[in-house]
Amino acid sequence: MSDGRNYRPETLAVHAGYDPATASNSAKPPIYMTSTFAYASAQAAKDIHEAYFEGTGPAVGGPGHIYSRLGHPGLDMVEARLAALDGAEAAAVFNTGMATHTAIALTYLRPGDSIVHSRPVYGGTDGLYHLLMPQMGVQPFAFTDGCDEANIRAAVDDARAAGPLKLIVIETPANPTAALVDIALVVRIAAELTPRPLVVIDNTLLGPIFQRPIALGVDLCMTSLTKYCGGHSDLLAGGVTGSKALIAPLLLLRTTLGSQLDPFTSWLLLRSMETVGLRSERAMTNAWAIAEYLRDHPKVSSVTYLGFTAPGSTQRAVYDRQCTAAGSTFAFRVHGGEAAAFRFLDKLRLLRFAVSLGGSETLITHPATTTHYSVPQASRDSVGIDGSTLRLSVGIEHVDDLIGDIAQALDAA
Ligand SMILES: *Cc1c(COP(=O)(O)O)cnc(C)c1O
Repeated sequence: MSDGRNYRPETLAVHAGYDPATASNSAKPPIYMTSTFAYASAQAAKDIHEAYFEGTGPAVGGPGHIYSRLGHPGLDMVEARLAALDGAEAAAVFNTGMATHTAIALTYLRPGDSIVHSRPVYGGTDGLYHLLMPQMGVQPFAFTDGCDEANIRAAVDDARAAGPLKLIVIETPANPTAALVDIALVVRIAAELTPRPLVVIDNTLLGPIFQRPIALGVDLCMTSLTKYCGGHSDLLAGGVTGSKALIAPLLLLRTTLGSQLDPFTSWLLLRSMETVGLRSERAMTNAWAIAEYLRDHPKVSSVTYLGFTAPGSTQRAVYDRQCTAAGSTFAFRVHGGEAAAFRFLDKLRLLRFAVSLGGSETLITHPATTTHYSVPQASRDSVGIDGSTLRLSVGIEHVDDLIGDIAQALDAA
C-alpha cells in the first residue's frame, strides 16, 4: 500500500500486498501453482539471478521469480501483508512457526555464542534452545520475571560470562501463565551492550492486532501464523518481520532449508488475514465474558486472564503500555484436581479438546497431561500448571452457547 496514507491494521489486513493490476485485474489474488518460472530471455535470466543474489529481489507481483523454493508471488503477497500489519519494513514467511524460530537461531547464532530467553516459552522453542542449540555450542540462559530489571540483568550477565550474547528471545504474554515481559525494558538493556544482541519477540499469543512490538523497538517480531492469522485451525505457517537488512539473510537461509510456504497455503493465509481483526475482537469479547463467568463459579478455584491483571501493579503498567487488549487464550483451575478436570472435559459437547489456539472454534486443553506432558513436575509447578489446570482458546461462536456448554460440564465436575 504505497499511496502514502497511514492505514490501520484492519484495513491493511484486507488490502496490503495485492494489486489487481498485477493479475489480469482479478479482484482477489490468484494462486500461482508452479514450481518454476520461465525466463523471457538470456539477459533477463542473468538480471533476475543478479537481483536475487544481490538481495534486490522482485517487486511484489512483478517478474523476477526463479523457482518456488526461492520465492513465489503468493509468498510475496503474504510477506507484504504481514510486514504492513506489523509496521515493519520486511517479512519472511515459513511453513511453520518452528521453522521460523529455527531459521532465526541458525542465522544469528554461531558456536560459542550465548542466548537469553524469557521463561516460560513455547515447548518447541524451549527444545530448540535447550536441546538443539547446546549441541551446536550455543549456551541458553533464562529469566522468569520479565518485569523485573535485576532479574533480566542477572540472566544477561550470566550469558555474557559464557560467551558473546547474540539474541534475547522473549515470549509475552507467556502461555498459559499470562506473565508479561516488559518489551521496552528489554530493548533498553540490549541497547547498552556490546556486541548488541538482537531482541526477538514471539508475538503469537496476542497476534498482530493486539500487540505491535516493532513500534516498541524489537529487532525481529516472530509470529506462528498457524494461530490467529491462519485463524481456522486448517493450516500451518510462521513469519518474522523486521528491517530489510535483518530479514534478507533469513530469506537466503530459507532457500537452503527449503522451509518456504507453498503457493496454496500462502493464498489461504492471505485470505484468512483479511478477517484477523474481526476474529481477534470477537474472540476477545467472548473470552472476557467467559473469564468473568468462571471467576464467579463455585467449582472454579482460579482464573489467569490478562484482562484481570491487578490495577496498580507493575504488570498492569506494562500491560497498559504494550498490549491494546487481553486476547482470548487463558487458563483456569477447577476444584478437585485431575479427576474433576477430566470429568469436566469428558462432559463438554461444543468445546473441542485439542491443542493449538487462535482458531474460529473454541479449544480446550489439559496442559499437565498433553502439551506439557514432558515438562518435569517441578518446572510445571513453577509456572503454575497442575492437574486441575485447563487452558482455553476462545473462538468466535455465540458466547451464550459457549457458557452454556461450560455450565453443564461444570455441573458434572
Ligand atoms: C504454536 C506456537 C509456536 C509454533 O508454531 P507452529 O506454527 O506450530 O510451528 C511458537 N510459539 C508459540 C507461542 C506458539 O503458540
